[in-house]
Amino acid sequence: MSARLDCPLCGAVVAEGVADIAPGVCPGCGARYEGGEGSAPDAVRTALLGFGADALDPAAVTDAVFRLTPADSAGKGVAITSDERDDFYRWWLFVQPGDEGDPVAVISGI
Ligand SMILES: [Zn+2]
Repeated sequence: MSARLDCPLCGAVVAEGVADIAPGVCPGCGARYEGGEGSAPDAVRTALLGFGADALDPAAVTDAVFRLTPADSAGKGVAITSDERDDFYRWWLFVQPGDEGDPVAVISGI
């Protein structure tokens, strides 16, 4: 079993050749990533809990994040991506800290 995750915001390799991936921080841009579920809606729900943003509607955030173009994601500091594993993958929500270090405000901004 080998997993790999690339940051969708800066392209840095976040994890490579590891048995599993835990939530953490991108070494390239400092974005936090949370989630790690097999479906995007489940990953967003788990990520919102991890970010302390569980007051936000997971379905609305999932819908909004998939509407972001790469340029939108770069500007707003939020993106969703899947990792790579042997025969499946898991989804991760990346959020940059923002001016005030508040991921809830950043996620609310999409
Ligand atoms: Zn990054």
